Amino acid sequence: TQYVYTFGEGTAEGRGAQKNLLGGKGANLAEMARIGLPVPAGFTISTDGCVYYMKHGDYPEGMEQEVEAALAKTEKLMGMKYGDPENPLLVSCRSGARKSMPGMMETVLNVGLTTKTIPGLIEKTGNERFVWDAYRRLIQMFADVVMEKAEGIEPDEGEEIRAQLDNIMDEIKEQKGYEGDTDFSADDLKELSEKFKKKIKEVLGSEFPDDPKEQLWQAIGAVFKSWNGKRAVSYRRIEGIPDEWGTACNVQSMVFGNMGDTSATGVAFTRNPATGENKFYGEWLPNAQGEDVVAGIRTPNPLNMDTKSEQNKHLPSLEEAMPDTYKEIVDVRNKLEAHYQDMQDIEFTIQENKLYMLQTRVGKRTGMAALNMAMDMLAENLIDEKLAVTRVSADQLNEMLHPLVDPEAEKKATPIAEGLPAGPGGAFGQIVFTSDDAVKWYREGKHVILVREETNPEDVEGMRAAEAILTARGGMTSHAALVARGWGKCCIVGAGNLKIDLQQRTVSTNGKTFKEGDVFTLNGTKGYVYEGELAMIDATENPRLKDFMAIVDRYRKLKVRTNAETAEDVKLAKEFGAEGIGLYRTEHMFYGKGSEKPLFLLRKMILSVNEDERRAALDELFPHVKDDIKETLEILDDRPVTIRLLDPPLHEFVPHSEENQKRLAEALNIDVATVIKRSNALRESNPMMGHRGVRVGITYPEIAEAQIRAILQAAAELIKAGKKPRPEIMIPVTCDVKELDIMKQIVDQVYEDVVQAAGIDKIDYDFGTMIEIPRAAMLSDQMAQTAQFFSFGTNDLTQMTFGFSRDDMVTFMNEYLDRSILPRDPFQTLDMESIAPMIEDSVKKGRTTRPDLKVGICGEHGGDGPSVKFCHRAGFDYVSCSPYRLPIARLAAAQAAV
Ligand code: ADP
Ligand code: MG
Ligand code: MG
Repeated sequence: TQYVYTFGEGTAEGRGAQKNLLGGKGANLAEMARIGLPVPAGFTISTDGCVYYMKHGDYPEGMEQEVEAALAKTEKLMGMKYGDPENPLLVSCRSGARKSMPGMMETVLNVGLTTKTIPGLIEKTGNERFVWDAYRRLIQMFADVVMEKAEGIEPDEGEEIRAQLDNIMDEIKEQKGYEGDTDFSADDLKELSEKFKKKIKEVLGSEFPDDPKEQLWQAIGAVFKSWNGKRAVSYRRIEGIPDEWGTACNVQSMVFGNMGDTSATGVAFTRNPATGENKFYGEWLPNAQGEDVVAGIRTPNPLNMDTKSEQNKHLPSLEEAMPDTYKEIVDVRNKLEAHYQDMQDIEFTIQENKLYMLQTRVGKRTGMAALNMAMDMLAENLIDEKLAVTRVSADQLNEMLHPLVDPEAEKKATPIAEGLPAGPGGAFGQIVFTSDDAVKWYREGKHVILVREETNPEDVEGMRAAEAILTARGGMTSHAALVARGWGKCCIVGAGNLKIDLQQRTVSTNGKTFKEGDVFTLNGTKGYVYEGELAMIDATENPRLKDFMAIVDRYRKLKVRTNAETAEDVKLAKEFGAEGIGLYRTEHMFYGKGSEKPLFLLRKMILSVNEDERRAALDELFPHVKDDIKETLEILDDRPVTIRLLDPPLHEFVPHSEENQKRLAEALNIDVATVIKRSNALRESNPMMGHRGVRVGITYPEIAEAQIRAILQAAAELIKAGKKPRPEIMIPVTCDVKELDIMKQIVDQVYEDVVQAAGIDKIDYDFGTMIEIPRAAMLSDQMAQTAQFFSFGTNDLTQMTFGFSRDDMVTFMNEYLDRSILPRDPFQTLDMESIAPMIEDSVKKGRTTRPDLKVGICGEHGGDGPSVKFCHRAGFDYVSCSPYRLPIARLAAAQAAV
């Protein structure tokens, strides 16, 4: 196996498509080199190398030799030699996994500087200050990444070696009255390096290595180990990235943005990642290196004049400061967009006016930006419709269906603070000051806003739990801003006038102090922070979104239906594109629909002691049920409506409080004791697996019959009125075809009656079942003998396959996810290991019996992106979900089809 792949000077051994092997960073460095962009030469050690190293604690056979050879090649391309006292080459060791994990792993710069190579580099560059600056940075990074984190040392907050070294720097700054890092002289930096080395020895007990090869190999090892660092592990868990992938390690010749005022470093997006606007957007710092821009140490400058903001308009843009280099980088932008056909997130460094590209990747963006970019690029002919459809993810679409701060409410409020609009949308919540608290409060069901001094990737879990993130420092391209945007989170960074007191858990601004638990509202689109809770509005009325969804609908093959009962929901669902109802739950008509009469009649029926009583009660109930169904069938007109017969255990409908039992007794004209006695007789120890669904119809056929009659009669009445109702009768909780046969017999009898009595030719209806019990799924070839359609009830199917109660799993699910026992919550996304194959098999079997078997899904999964895509692959006819999830289902269906 080849473990090492070189790149540089217009060529590369690897390519952009090899992300699995080379990691995203390595693959794109190779690709940029191939398309002729100025990439400093270097090589990538593959993720296989990392995986091996993680398993064996050592490098695979031959890898070391390959590294030596690749280093020699790099030296040749660069005309320098690693570790050479006269003409030393320095390198960076950079992590980079398959999927971008911004800031979650480690990188070490300036590797190769030692007491032996320092004089040579000073001689060569004639820039003493620069060399000592590079050296002190190497020591800082090396101590932090290689000597502490990679060794698994986890000091308390503030006690990290990094913080201790920062303190030394701050002390000197204070002593000498310096404002920033750039005020340090060469001598200061030299002295600082000595102090650093002493501190490291004192705190960590070992020497900072002065041998170049030792530095290199330790740095490579540390990069590999950073795959299992705390942040990286948390981030993977949240993003569902497998632990087995590993990171690549990119060893790349250093170029220097800290060689003086003609040098610089920057980060940019080829379009605005927050809004999608087609403007080159970025931040840069003169005389700076690598992390400076993203770390929020100095306030970065804007890239160009076009994109200055309120906060940075007084700072010089790159366009003004280095017009020629700026033009070069605009060319690079155009080349990259044309090549990748997507917005790119880039890192560049300028060394004495010469531009170098250090990274490119597809940029993370907000939902709104994703939509705008897709539609713009389509108009620019940069991408076609099929590609456009894939450019908005389910989560991004979901985010657009989420609220904004109501402009009216906002007009009346005064911001208490202002920062950079890093992640748009609106949010309110109680403020907390640590990541741990955010997680804790979130688990208690609270809405929180995480308030931090600076954007810090260590906070990922808290960021994830928070409704929104607010920081006092940092820029738009800071790691946390990037992460927040990727998640579509409302986020404001760099709100400079916030004074955070972590000990007291307070934040003050303009003389006012707020404590933990106080409520803030954030407008992440503008960067405004308000005290208290402001009203929110809905963002769906966006014409561009409508255009996009029209394209989406042209490509999908799956139909989409909704789960709905009320006229209101049904109308909403039609607006969201519903092509029918996939689940109308009969029992819902007994709650919250205005009149209490139907519920009373149902209770009367349930508490009946014999068939006669029950039939009498059912007759009374009948017109209510029929009218409710009729109304729904009428709204849907010629679109299908799947009506599920009564599903829950009957006991659920009986009143439990003494008060209500008394009232019912009075209304029924019997005594309370009788009500209680009958109700107790219905009590079950495990009602969800008890006397419910089809089982009630089997034991009390008259209950099933009344419902079936209501459906068919409602349809008959509509037919007579010239409509075309399409009811589908669905039997729940079945496990055997004989149950279906018994129900079908009732349907056939009622059908004859109703058609004759109405004097019509026929009613177009289908008869089918939910498949929600594993036994039914396994015996689906038999079920399909009688059922004309299957609707997979994946909530129960998941519940019964896992043996996890849907209502009780909150107590352990988090632990299951935290400890990677399960990759994700199976109630959100179909379990691809058990449920999905079971369904796939079941559909196949069903269709061997009945080739035109109609298949749908009506569980929560019907509105979940990956689950919908599965349904497409498994040959479903439709998915059904709640009205608000419909756009997501449509999008996922289209993405599965293109
Ligand atoms: P991350 O994944 O955290 O962004 P990177 O590997 O991209 O880490 O490196 C961090 C910073 O160091 C980036 O800003 C990058 O531009 C800079 N950097 C990395 N390698 C080099 C190099 N060879 N020369 C100059 N700067 C570099
Ligand atoms: Mg980094
Ligand atoms: Mg980077």
